[in-house]
Amino acid sequence: MELKTLGEFGLIASIQKRFEKPHSQNVVCGIGDDCAVLKVGFGHAQLLTTDTLVENIHFQQALITPYQLGAKALVANLSDIAAMGGKPEVVLLSLSLTSDIDTDWLDGFLDGFQKTATDYQVSLIGGDMCHTDKNIVISITVTGSMPLKHVRYRSMAKVGDAICVTSTLGDAAAGLRKLRNPIPNPSFDIKTLIKAHQEPRAYVEEGRWLSKQKAVRAMMDVSDGLASDLKHLTQQSQVGANVRLDKIPLSKALKATMPFNQWSAESLALTGGEDYCLLFTVDAKHVDRLNKAYGKQFQQPFYVVGTMTDTKEIQYFLDDHPIDLDVQGYNHFV
Ligand code: ADP
Ligand code: MG
Repeated sequence: MELKTLGEFGLIASIQKRFEKPHSQNVVCGIGDDCAVLKVGFGHAQLLTTDTLVENIHFQQALITPYQLGAKALVANLSDIAAMGGKPEVVLLSLSLTSDIDTDWLDGFLDGFQKTATDYQVSLIGGDMCHTDKNIVISITVTGSMPLKHVRYRSMAKVGDAICVTSTLGDAAAGLRKLRNPIPNPSFDIKTLIKAHQEPRAYVEEGRWLSKQKAVRAMMDVSDGLASDLKHLTQQSQVGANVRLDKIPLSKALKATMPFNQWSAESLALTGGEDYCLLFTVDAKHVDRLNKAYGKQFQQPFYVVGTMTDTKEIQYFLDDHPIDLDVQGYNHFV
């Protein structure tokens, strides 16, 4: 069978099947969530996550500065620690580089990486260096720690939970499209969109805060687009979801682009990816109270976009009318 028939998620599932039974009793969660979770000491969890960026697949040198790339590569990993509710601790950095790379490029990359490591208080403790003929490959592993009882898994959602996200969606994807197809003198705020693509942040403090709240159940980060990521969450929790398209948060900058685009802001918000915000579910009885407390803490409320259901399917609604949407997020090999 060709890999494209299996797809990225089919491949992961087949690997997962082979390695279902861990050798170590300390593995609390292996393949399938944003991080692996190990039990360490009494009641503590160690989180582990790894992510690879390949030139011309995940980034193009012409569309991102080395500084921004160094920062973004680390942020993408920190986002997976945030997704469990953890505090990032240490990082390993592996670089496969072509020999013609200018040392200025590497300095810029490391400056961005270092600034982000300092901002999020993670220490670089090792890595690997390799030569490559063609494309740059950046592979990063980050660990985190947190109380075991606070870890939020994708599988924890319950029927009736409110589905929430911590930020507007689709900006990064719109920014990338505008970088690829630049338009002279745009009449809308293109810088905000491009910045969302080039300089994302990780919601680490928000994730840590949310993980301590009893009313918060499942959590993950949005890296492939809400549609695809919510699907993982519903599958692992064995529930379905109703999503209100009219409640999907869209930034002013993204809305302003609408008259000028082939694509709709909503479809970008659902499938664009690289938002790196948090997607989580909350016991509906407590969602208003929790949002007030969250708003006080972070000067910005979160957004409720739908409800978990017992259908095992995701149904989209526009102004209370169910609509058929065939939406897919990013899937390698397909
Ligand atoms: P995320 O988008 O949160 O980084 P991924 O979609 O990359 O998550 O991966 C989903 C799950 O599959 C994670 O638990 C990850 O560790 C696991 N995974 C991905 N690729 C492999 C692989 N080659 N071998 C084992 N596990 C993998
Ligand atoms: Mg993730």
